[in-house]
Amino acid sequence: MALVNDNYVDLKESYLFSDIAHKVAAFTAAHPERKVIRLGIGDVTLPLAPCVVEALKKAAGEMGAKETFRGYGPEQGYDFLHEAIVKYYASFGVELDSKEVFVSDGAKSDCGNITDIFNNADTILVPDPVYPVYLDTNIMCGRKIIYMEGKPENDFLPLPTADLKADVAYLCSPNNPTGAAYTKEQLALWVEWALANDAVILYDAAYEAFISDENIPRSIFAVEGAKKCAIELCSLSKTAGFTGTRCGYTVVPLALERKTSKGEVLSLNKMWLRRQTTKFNGVPYIIQRGAEAVFSPEGIEQCRANIAYYQENARIIMDALTEKGIKFYGGKHSPYIWLQCPGNMGSWEFFDLLLNKLGIVGTPGAGFGKCGEGYFRLTSFGSRENTAEAAERILRDL
Ligand code: PLP
Repeated sequence: MALVNDNYVDLKESYLFSDIAHKVAAFTAAHPERKVIRLGIGDVTLPLAPCVVEALKKAAGEMGAKETFRGYGPEQGYDFLHEAIVKYYASFGVELDSKEVFVSDGAKSDCGNITDIFNNADTILVPDPVYPVYLDTNIMCGRKIIYMEGKPENDFLPLPTADLKADVAYLCSPNNPTGAAYTKEQLALWVEWALANDAVILYDAAYEAFISDENIPRSIFAVEGAKKCAIELCSLSKTAGFTGTRCGYTVVPLALERKTSKGEVLSLNKMWLRRQTTKFNGVPYIIQRGAEAVFSPEGIEQCRANIAYYQENARIIMDALTEKGIKFYGGKHSPYIWLQCPGNMGSWEFFDLLLNKLGIVGTPGAGFGKCGEGYFRLTSFGSRENTAEAAERILRDL
């Protein structure tokens, strides 16, 4: 008799986006004449950069010719992409060995898969509010989870305390949903804590490309000592509009070692290589050529232009909120604007108000953890026209 994983019983159903979809469907059915502006889901809307599309086409051509056709590639990614990523990191002052870079089909997969190399006895520290994948993937393993609270008093950037005990800590900077980003000094406190506790930091840098301040590192490896205590998860989804194209990468330093429960010292880089070569057969060659183009000088420029477009959208929303006297966080180094629901409203109450009165869809903060209650996430991923119209509605009708 097959027994299934007991831990799945402990997962809470995620109704967030289906509840939103139902409410929006009911609203549009009742008011077909009203235009609904969607600033809820964290998906990009601008197309891939032209040089990426060219690279994808060229690679597709190679796959159609006998001389250049490729079958299985290296599980951890092709050398050409490793080299492009190593060069990209060097551009913001972080040195990597290409053996430290593992190409994947995106950060969500790696967030989940990385749990394979940790012990189920490990205590996991998760920020609240945050991207819900960290929590659910560890519940699936039956691990003990503790939370660190993000709140206005700490600018939604929790820091370690002297008595904090955990084995694996997730950090997401810039954070989804709050948009808050750690400074180098703050990250250094986390590195110091992790080294003192033999903990490992899983650093999610999915939104690093939105950082526009030299004091805010694009990588945790900008902090001394981080290579002995951190793994970095990266994605091309928001950097280059790859949400549907699928490519990311994870950096596991060669210097990162921890003990098994029996005291044997293992290299996490070797463990991850073993895990990937056993359970993963690599990202398609065509996609990796597209990803390589993202890191070319032309690709960096074209992707930056798209990010600048979203940043301008964020500014338009932030200006409207400022004028209305609504307190908000993020928006600066992130596509997310995290606002405090006015009049002490709950986050679903504010959702209903925004939808019914203004015809704008956002995401209730309560969907990202207990501490998200009373907050609300708007994204800058909409079109300029819709974003400007949403800002006008906020100014006029809220
Ligand atoms: N990490 C964070 C913080 C995210 O917000 C997301 C997607 O929204 C991901 C990872 C997943 O990225 P990917 O599309 O590469 O799987």
